[in-house]
Amino acid sequence: MENVIEVRNLKKNYQNVEAIKGITFNVKQGSLFAFLGTNGAGKSTTIDILCTLTEKTSGTVKIAGHTIGTNENDAIRKEIGVVFQDSLLDERLSVYENIWHRGIAYGLKKEELKRNFKFVESHLHLDDIVKKKYGKLSGGQRRRADIARALIHRPSILFLDEPTTGLDPQTRQFVWQAIKKLQKETKMTVFLTTHYMEEAAVADEIVIIKKGEIVAQGTPNYLKENYAYDQLLVVFKENVEVGSYLSSYKYKFQKDTYTIPLKKTRDAIPILEKLEPVVQSFEVIKGSMDDVFIRINEEGDILNDNNHEFSKQTFKSI
Ligand code: ADP
Repeated sequence: MENVIEVRNLKKNYQNVEAIKGITFNVKQGSLFAFLGTNGAGKSTTIDILCTLTEKTSGTVKIAGHTIGTNENDAIRKEIGVVFQDSLLDERLSVYENIWHRGIAYGLKKEELKRNFKFVESHLHLDDIVKKKYGKLSGGQRRRADIARALIHRPSILFLDEPTTGLDPQTRQFVWQAIKKLQKETKMTVFLTTHYMEEAAVADEIVIIKKGEIVAQGTPNYLKENYAYDQLLVVFKENVEVGSYLSSYKYKFQKDTYTIPLKKTRDAIPILEKLEPVVQSFEVIKGSMDDVFIRINEEGDILNDNNHEFSKQTFKSI
């Protein structure tokens, strides 16, 4: 697959704030790409640069073969659609009018605009809201209209800046399903920022930034294998003196249950063999994308140091 976005050593300073400190990554054509980071990490700044809205300080960015910051910015804008956290639609106009006006602003001729409108209407299931005023829509309906507006010129790359933030869980799921379906059916490249790890978990590739630098990247599986840890949950038989059994492990204790962090799932086997005489029940919980994000963003490392809520006992025998 070809790279549709190429970012090389990108830097951005705001006066004395180094918001982006030289990041390099690629986005493959047709992929779902997730760009993650806590608040202030530099996600919006990066998106704004990629969408030609903010000037970079240095580095190079290529979008669909065009170089940002040259006389190719107009060509780039034709290739991209953007949905920001704050909507740009006019509350007093209907969904249809909002989208239609946007198409005209892009210089689309009537026939093409009609064709494109049909496309966004069917892919974003607008039939029930197309005649309604934007200001009267629910949060989920607004998001669908926002995405439709961003797609009216049929861009090859869609940027979504936290598209589901602020929506209730059910609506979030509905909007997210629509985005996934759209991406699958149209093979469009989707560049997404999100706080929700379950959304990032279905991405083809994830880049995580922290304080303007890339701290991890790879497929969700790669990140889970390398950054998430599994956990062994154990409940002991009553009236058992467990201290000697647990002396060589890190663990935490909560509501009858001891939790032991594992580097990999199979590490549970020798521990369970050792604890076997005193174990009442146990469970192994696989690491998730949430764990990846937490582990990357926490300062310590529970498996390799003692600076954590887990007990300070060594982990050396695992
Ligand atoms: P995120 O989108 O990940 O929350 P941002 O890109 O908004 O992060 O911000 C990255 C850093 O740049 C933060 O330290 C933020 O305070 C700073 N920043 C963002 N925009 C500006 C601006 N216009 N002027 C000065 N500093 C800014």
